[in-house]
Amino acid sequence: MIRDRYAPSPTGLQHVGGIRTALFNYLFARSTGGTFILRLEDTDRARFDESFVKNLYDTFCWLRIHWDEGPDTGGPRAPYIQSQRTDLYRKYAEELLEKGGAYRCFCSAERLERVRADREAEKSSQTGYDRHCRNISAEESAKRAADGEVFTIRLKIPLGEAINASSPAAVPVTRFTDRLLGDIEWKNSDISPDPVLLKSDGFPTYHLANIVDDHLMGISHVLRAQEWLSSTPLHIILYAAFGWGPPEFCHLPMVMGQDGKKLSKRHGATSIDEFRRQGYLAEALINYIALLGCSYEEGKDIYTLEDLEKQFSLDKLNKAPAVFDYKKLEWYNGQYIRMKDDGELARLALPFAVEQGLFGKTGTGNSEPNAEQLALFTAAMGLVRERAVLLGEIPSKLGYVFSEPGVPAPEEFIPKKADLEAARRLLRAGRELVPALSAGSDETAEAAAKAKAGQEEIKIGDLLMPLRVAVTGARVSPPLFGSLRLLGAQKCLARIDRALEALDKAAEQGNADLCE
Ligand code: GLU
Ligand code: ZN
Repeated sequence: MIRDRYAPSPTGLQHVGGIRTALFNYLFARSTGGTFILRLEDTDRARFDESFVKNLYDTFCWLRIHWDEGPDTGGPRAPYIQSQRTDLYRKYAEELLEKGGAYRCFCSAERLERVRADREAEKSSQTGYDRHCRNISAEESAKRAADGEVFTIRLKIPLGEAINASSPAAVPVTRFTDRLLGDIEWKNSDISPDPVLLKSDGFPTYHLANIVDDHLMGISHVLRAQEWLSSTPLHIILYAAFGWGPPEFCHLPMVMGQDGKKLSKRHGATSIDEFRRQGYLAEALINYIALLGCSYEEGKDIYTLEDLEKQFSLDKLNKAPAVFDYKKLEWYNGQYIRMKDDGELARLALPFAVEQGLFGKTGTGNSEPNAEQLALFTAAMGLVRERAVLLGEIPSKLGYVFSEPGVPAPEEFIPKKADLEAARRLLRAGRELVPALSAGSDETAEAAAKAKAGQEEIKIGDLLMPLRVAVTGARVSPPLFGSLRLLGAQKCLARIDRALEALDKAAEQGNADLCE
């Protein structure tokens, strides 16, 4: 039975790397009929913040990734929050002491600092703990503890000596097989020298809590970021010291920026919150992140969460690092925007529209749309769907739908190689076309515009350009015919008339200037 987990430390916002780990664990469980667990590794109380826990829940709810067991859902191995399990870690640390796999260290912080400073002065290559307390006898150690001396509990990395009478002499290398990277061998002398498992305040370190929990929670597979690979030999030693079988480890390929360095804020947004605020869709992020280090079918790009739940397999993982390509993510977002119908797209874009004040302002801030505005907004989705990359850019493209655009300067109405006179003539011709263009379909509008352009012996682009500027207030806008239909002939004619008036005035002014 496959059981895997996402075990974040709530010391920051959920970011691309963490989501990739969570998603792969989720997909692995789903694709194998296994169980996906959320465990909060919140033993780093200094960096812990409740807001990060809230961000975690919000993010996963938004992404539609749900765990089968976790702090909020509960489950048979509860609690799923490490700070609520500290008694357990203490108990297991004690057990390890008894088994001889760990020992008490009575060194003060000052002594440890002195060792560090001396080594630095000697330019010694040695780092970490000097194993000062490793050989204190069990009796002396127990006595000093009973006398109230402060201590930490450290893991005894096997260095060739027997752990105790019943376990054979350990070999000074640690081996394990990573599901993706294959056989890995680590010299024990290269492993962090006897790291602390239990701190003097009785709190566990990451290593102890992580291993105890993975064991007690029946975790069969650990899929995690490659930065944890160097901790794995230590974890293997811990499992052995407890006499427990380790889970299968699979370290996921790194996620890099395009410069080949580990993805970070320098490259752009990394927190899911930030992508969400910019107007990325959950589906696009899921789809793109699912492909970071995993290859599915050749030539197929679009995968829904449901597809991935069926198709994910550890065999599809790549060894090579994944490169996070912001452009590709944008492409995905555009694709998913195109798949939305008007109602759904409007619902997704609505918060951005309100935030940007598309529906006007009240005394207290940006206003929500009334029923009529909401219907108009929904109907307008057809105008922006094909080109939009981010939800956040949709409202600004639709300003002219919700409020009268100002009349642009006369030059804006003048097609290339033409003059003001021509622009006025074109706009008047365009005005006559409005009833035909604002009824019917794109095809009938196109035909009507073509016929008119033929009659007047002008280019169709030149005919429509001043019309577009008058109706939308800009040379570049969402599709003109659709805009005319959405606004209706009446509104469009009024805008054209205002524009014509302005152009007439400019012409008069021009004539007056010539006479001077
Ligand atoms: N708490 C660790 C983290 O923040 C868990 C690492 C692991 O999966 O073992 O990523
Ligand atoms: Zn010590």
